[in-house]
Amino acid sequence: MLDTTNPQLQFALDAVRQASHLVKQVQAEMVSPALEKQDRSPVTVADFAAQALVAHNLQLAFPDADLVGEEDAASLRTDDVMRSQVTAFVSNVFEDASEDNVLNWIDRGDAAGHGKYWTLDPIDGTKGFLRGQQYCVALALIEDGQVQVGVLGCPNLSDGYTQDIGGPGSLLAAVRGQGAWVIPLDDSVDMQQIKVSEIASAAEARFLRSFEAGHTNVSQLDVIAEKMGVEAEPVRLDSQAKYAILASGAGDLIFRLISPKMPDYKEKIWDQAAGSLVLEEAGGKITDLDGKPLDFTQGRMLTKNRGVLASNALLHDAALEAIHKVGA
Ligand code: AMP
Ligand code: MG
Repeated sequence: MLDTTNPQLQFALDAVRQASHLVKQVQAEMVSPALEKQDRSPVTVADFAAQALVAHNLQLAFPDADLVGEEDAASLRTDDVMRSQVTAFVSNVFEDASEDNVLNWIDRGDAAGHGKYWTLDPIDGTKGFLRGQQYCVALALIEDGQVQVGVLGCPNLSDGYTQDIGGPGSLLAAVRGQGAWVIPLDDSVDMQQIKVSEIASAAEARFLRSFEAGHTNVSQLDVIAEKMGVEAEPVRLDSQAKYAILASGAGDLIFRLISPKMPDYKEKIWDQAAGSLVLEEAGGKITDLDGKPLDFTQGRMLTKNRGVLASNALLHDAALEAIHKVGA
């Protein structure tokens, strides 16, 4: 059972919920071609505003906590227009959100990522956000390399697995040892435990993959699917919303193969931490492409790992074998 009196979980749920509402608001108010043409893309404003919000909430709840956030405020310091837009959105929530305060709050996310720390992707799936499709706010607490708390805010996912653009959205929450849970994003306290699927036959596997072809190796993925005898078409979507769907039992496998365009790419911890705990606590399994556990002791990146394989656990070995066979 999820202990909702846990102060770290409470902070994470409140902060992610608030940030998710804020990025939805940015999207609603700022999607206009004129703004995009000037390269004032709503995503950038939303990324900065969400990180400022979560970082400041963290400071209020746990003043000494470390945060590894995806963003920093360097570019905002020289961009007057964007800085004032970000500040305007954040000041809807915090009255003391001056421009200076907002810059400083964002830069609280500059921790190195050792020992005990939080990690935040203020908008995971930037490109999905821009397309009006899937994205999420992802926040996790890591202690000595183990993810202890993970929360995903997915505004365009209902019940944790149904793609529902403009719908009520979902929060996915996990605490180590306490299962994985889905809660509606719109201020409800209703929670349902989620579990991965029971599909054990490779041919029946449903693949979830990045919408962006450049984030994986699509041709290898096709060969893997063929070797496994997979019949279903892969479902393509951005962000750790894929982990939410896998954890909810509505998909079975996610392969983050190495993109041929970026053979040395290393995963960022904020792209994996929250989703990995939600998945594991739902009964799933997550490793790298060599079957090694994700190593969150290396700072901001998973430098000791190569790609990611996430599954309902039952299909993990078959997937690793297929990866090995195609040399992925
Ligand atoms: P997804 O929506 O699953 O494709 O993942 C989005 C994340 O992929 C972004 O937050 C980026 O940090 C990350 N990313 C960017 N380039 C690559 C790459 N070449 N390989 C894997 N992930 C990448
Ligand atoms: Mg991301």
